[in-house]
Amino acid sequence: MTKDIATPVRTKEILEKHGFSFKKSLGQNFLIDPNILRNIVSHANLSEKTAVIEIGPGIGALTEHLARNAGKVVAFEIDGRLLPVLEDTLSPYDNVTIIHQDILEVDLGAVIQEQFADYEEIVVVANLPYYVTTPIILKFLHSKVPISAMVIMMQKEVADRITAHPGTKAYGSLSIAIQYYMDAEVAMIVPKTVFMPQPNVESAVIRLTRKEEVPAEVIDEDFLFEVSKGSFAQRRKTILNNLQTVLPDGKAKKDLILTALEHCEIDPRRRGESLSIEEFAKLSNALYNDFFRQ
Ligand code: SAM
Repeated sequence: MTKDIATPVRTKEILEKHGFSFKKSLGQNFLIDPNILRNIVSHANLSEKTAVIEIGPGIGALTEHLARNAGKVVAFEIDGRLLPVLEDTLSPYDNVTIIHQDILEVDLGAVIQEQFADYEEIVVVANLPYYVTTPIILKFLHSKVPISAMVIMMQKEVADRITAHPGTKAYGSLSIAIQYYMDAEVAMIVPKTVFMPQPNVESAVIRLTRKEEVPAEVIDEDFLFEVSKGSFAQRRKTILNNLQTVLPDGKAKKDLILTALEHCEIDPRRRGESLSIEEFAKLSNALYNDFFRQ
């Protein structure tokens, strides 16, 4: 086995050899601890039969661990300066494809068809650029591609919100937007010291696993997310107050909102943070005909 990329000494050598300087605006904090990488990869349960999508390979620290454990790895990197570096550092691995593209611009369905036709299981593993964590995760979930799990590093504060349960301070529309599709848990907390350069915040790795069924069928997913977001518009307000403020003509249609809440057996004095995803789903269905805007 070749020497790990992710040691402080080797990382510095690679950066110097290629004259690379970090771009903060691209969230470039590279991992320099092989133990953390082994730990991340262990949470992805990889095998020869698994295909992996990685976002932001950097100089290949995580990519090489993925290549050693999965059948195939396709990694998307936005920073063209890293392409020659990756060609060099990942030359021992023939099961890695690097694509120079902004992940937010990628047609995921087409990539999966082109790259992963022979694979039944596709997972996402990444140390995400922190400035775009949420749009990236939501892109994967909304594009409906058959991703069975995501093992992803992010800022701990965002990890807490994604994995939060009802009745907690961290629970909100982001928890619902993700847990509607995926079971979510924090897999590990990661200290700043294992990155170069060190980020200003603590990090965490979360594991998202596809739910066999969504918690409750909804008429329109976008409307569910609109209702849940609106219900947290002012966390201290009741669900009735928030919905009256955020739904179109909400004040004039107070009675319709009350009828929908009653139909779902939700006390109008409750706050958004006490509602489960199932309750939000039922409520959005009950409100749909009265409020959905085309
Ligand atoms: N995987 C490497 C590691 O763990 O050491 C690097 C992780 S670093 C936190 C994030 C990486 O994502 C950087 O290489 C950055 O250039 C890349 N990146 C930032 N925005 C991106 C985007 N929109 N699409 C693809 N890659 C992106």
